Amino acid sequence: MYGKMKDDLQRELASIREAGLYKEERYILTPQAADIRVEYPEGSPPEGVVNFCANNYLGLSSHPKVIEAARNALETHGYGMSSVRFICGTQDIHRELEAKISDFFKTEDTILYAACFDANGGVFEPLFGKDDAIITDALNHASIIDGIRLCKASRSIYKTNDMTDLEAKLKETQGARYRVIATDGAFSMDGTIAQLDKIVALAEKYNALTMVDDAHCTGVIGKTGRGATEYCGVMGQVDIITSTLGKALGGASGGFTTGRKEIVELLRQRSRPYLFSNTVSSIVVKASIAVMDMLTSSTELRDKVEANTKRFRKGMTEAGFGIKPGDHPIVPIMLYNAKLSQDIARDMYAEGIYVIGFYHPVVGKGLSRIRVQLSAGHEFSHVDKAVAAFAKVGKKYDILGKTKEEIIAKYGE
Ligand SMILES: *Cc1c(COP(=O)(O)O)cnc(C)c1O
Repeated sequence: MYGKMKDDLQRELASIREAGLYKEERYILTPQAADIRVEYPEGSPPEGVVNFCANNYLGLSSHPKVIEAARNALETHGYGMSSVRFICGTQDIHRELEAKISDFFKTEDTILYAACFDANGGVFEPLFGKDDAIITDALNHASIIDGIRLCKASRSIYKTNDMTDLEAKLKETQGARYRVIATDGAFSMDGTIAQLDKIVALAEKYNALTMVDDAHCTGVIGKTGRGATEYCGVMGQVDIITSTLGKALGGASGGFTTGRKEIVELLRQRSRPYLFSNTVSSIVVKASIAVMDMLTSSTELRDKVEANTKRFRKGMTEAGFGIKPGDHPIVPIMLYNAKLSQDIARDMYAEGIYVIGFYHPVVGKGLSRIRVQLSAGHEFSHVDKAVAAFAKVGKKYDILGKTKEEIIAKYGE
């Protein structure tokens, strides 16, 4: 049987390559950090490259305190639990981490998952059924989309970040038993932070619940790094928050849902990725406890990523690049043309700066860009090196100080 399928798959893979959409993975030889060395498919310059495309916002992926906690976990709690939580997979430290996360967000309870993908995959189906409606932002993460697919509730999609359209969808769904508005805290290709103050106000007006996936904001955004709810002044007012341990909070793996007590309690009884998938490793749990302690006792790291972000945004604007304005350490450098985004990313790599160009279908047609992500792991010297390299490469392509229309006239969309 496989013969026919093999031919089809080979054709499909070839068409992915022809469309220029084949994803090549680079092999990194070092721990994740600002300075890395890369082996494959093309080696990095001898001095390595500076990484500007990790979600390592706080520089914790290989922080000595995180590594020490992880190592210590092996001694005190072993390696694996070989069980789901409800059979024999819950250690004291799992409950300790859940309590620390609830403390951090000022929520009532927290449930851990193997990944935020699982948290989103397991949050809708136990809570919402055929009489309910989920109102979801058009740019929400794939895992929210999949989570909604697994659930029998009706789905209404509103234009991204568009409060008028959200209100229209709230009006259309007034017959539902429960309604929940679901949004990313920050949209990963733009760095735009959702208008949670307005979303919460609309939810109150129309008697809906709110769910925020704060994967790109936890630890980073808001005065004390509590995320988009803090940034927007609505801490404690969002019913369900999902997030990841795999980005700012150390970057290994793991995710969680935090919020109302009864919601979390029901998820422990009914959420399938929690019930039927292995417990989060003690290594991740103890390292995450150390991270939560660090973030609770000091804002030093989120202050540092903020300072790096401001410096980079200012430097790039002064150099003459068009960047999407905002406060997030995700900084999109708009290039509009797909090939231009790839050419510039390649030249930047040769200059020792690792950035990635994105184009349709990952972003909208004609909205190709390079996405830079700042980190507290960067020093000002890294940031300045990146700005200088961008200025050099930007000059080569004659795009400095040029408007969107001028760049499109020269390179096409
Ligand atoms: C990264 C990300 C996820 C997935 O997180 P994992 O813990 O890696 O599964 C989910 N939602 C959003 C918005 C993300 O950015």
